[in-house]
Amino acid sequence: MTKQSIISVKNLKKNYGDFEAVKGISFDVFEGEIFGLLGPNGAGKSTTLEIIETLREKTSGTVIVDHIDLDKGPEDIKKIIGVQLQTSGYYPGLNLSELIGLFGGLYNRDVQPLELLDRVNLRDKARSKYKELSGGQKQRFSIATTLINQPKIIFLDEPTTGLDPQARRNLWDLIKDIRSKGTTVIMTTHYMDEAEVLCDRVAIIDSGRIIALDSPDKLIDNLVATGFERPREVKKANLEDVFIKLTGHVLREE
Ligand code: ADP
Repeated sequence: MTKQSIISVKNLKKNYGDFEAVKGISFDVFEGEIFGLLGPNGAGKSTTLEIIETLREKTSGTVIVDHIDLDKGPEDIKKIIGVQLQTSGYYPGLNLSELIGLFGGLYNRDVQPLELLDRVNLRDKARSKYKELSGGQKQRFSIATTLINQPKIIFLDEPTTGLDPQARRNLWDLIKDIRSKGTTVIMTTHYMDEAEVLCDRVAIIDSGRIIALDSPDKLIDNLVATGFERPREVKKANLEDVFIKLTGHVLREE
């Protein structure tokens, strides 16, 4: 089966004044995959994502999202993508259910707040305020806000930064569940174990250029084929395995 491209980026460039932050990158994201953008701070990941999200102007190049040319239909692109809303939009006086209702109104969508909160396992927090949530619950709520307009593609920016191991695994399951229901996911992360578990393919960006793009498995095989070996023999478990074995998978935030 040939894979359908849902995002196609060609020769994308972005200059901030004289500085070339993105230097002519090209890549495709396939429908239904989890695609990771990896790279050190300052590589150009956020700039690239924000251009595709229609939040930032590009300098040159073409971006096609679900057959819509960014230059011709940014408003149409906005309708089919889900982005994490800034927490500054989470009015402190409203509870989660009310916030979802409010955002649904902004998108002109008839959302069922409880159904959506159920999807991210927050139904029992429907009457809580955002500030009362744990780190993992905040992230899950933030992911819920990306789903309000029933998007074809969601964008997640470092969705598990700062979470404990249980909450990270819980988020991984949620992201896989979203993908399994047909939504394409494009995400950034600094955790390579996370990219390995979640991403069907990753692009590694450095100084505004894509320096590798493939499945994690293929990238690892390519490195091994060059004769690379880990300096130490790898143990059959790591400290995170110890932590999870001792403390269990159960979320601790409730
Ligand atoms: P990443 O998300 O990979 O950390 P960014 O896309 O945020 O990278 O930034 C890429 C480069 O562009 C960095 O050197 C950053 O300092 C610069 N940059 C980002 N936004 C602006 C801006 N608004 N004005 C000037 N330079 C910027």
